[in-house]
Amino acid sequence: MAYLFTPAEIPSVPVAGVERSFPVRRIFCVGRNYAEHAREMGGDPDREPPFFFTKPADAVVMSGSDIPYPSATENFHFEMELVVAIGKEGKNIAKEDARSHVFGYAAGIDLTRRDLQKKAKDKGRPWDSGKAFDNSAPCAAITSAADAGDIETADIRLTVNGETRQSANISDLIWSIDDVIVFLSAEFELKPGDLIYTGTPAGVGPLKVGDAVVGTVGDLSPIEIKIV
Ligand code: MN
Repeated sequence: MAYLFTPAEIPSVPVAGVERSFPVRRIFCVGRNYAEHAREMGGDPDREPPFFFTKPADAVVMSGSDIPYPSATENFHFEMELVVAIGKEGKNIAKEDARSHVFGYAAGIDLTRRDLQKKAKDKGRPWDSGKAFDNSAPCAAITSAADAGDIETADIRLTVNGETRQSANISDLIWSIDDVIVFLSAEFELKPGDLIYTGTPAGVGPLKVGDAVVGTVGDLSPIEIKIV
C-alpha cells in the first residue's frame, strides 16, 4: 500500500575511504562511563553498573555541520565520545564475541540540554528532553575496526575555539567496549546500524552561538561542528 506521504530518508553516516554510507538504525548512549565525569555529575564511579539511554536515529548529524543552538535550554553542553558502530546482530553477546559484532568506530558528540536533563533527573523523569532532541548526535565518518588501530588506548579530546576542554584516553573507560556490548545486548537485541555512544570523560561544559567544536579519538576522522 502506498504511503500517505513520503517517508523520511534513512539517516546515515559516511564510512571513511568507502563510497558507501552506514545506515543508522538506533542510537544508544552509555551514562557515566569515565570515573572523573561520574564524579563531576555527582555519581559514584565505583558502584554504578552501566546504564543506557537513547536518541532517535535522525538526531545524527554529519561532521562539518552547522548546528542551530537548540530551543528550550540555557545550558547546552558538549560531551565528546567514542562511537561504536554495530555491524552484526546479536543478543546476550558473550564478552569474547563482543568485538565480532563491531563494524567500526567513530568520533561523536553527545549534545545535551543539561538544564533539562537535570530537571528530569531531579524529578525521576525520562531524559529525552535533555538528550534526544534534534541534531543532538553529531558523528564523524566511521572507520572500520580493521583500520582503526588500537582503539582501546586511543586519546580522546575535544576543543572549543581551539582550546582543549576534554582530554582523556579510551583506556579510562569504566566499562570497556566489550563490557558495554555485553550489558547492552542483554537488554536489547543489537542490529546492524546501531550506534553506541560510549560515554564522555570529564570536562563537559556549555556551548554558545559561534563556538567551533573539534573532537578527536586517536586517528579516527575528527568530528567538527559549529554552533549557529
Ligand atoms: Mn554522554
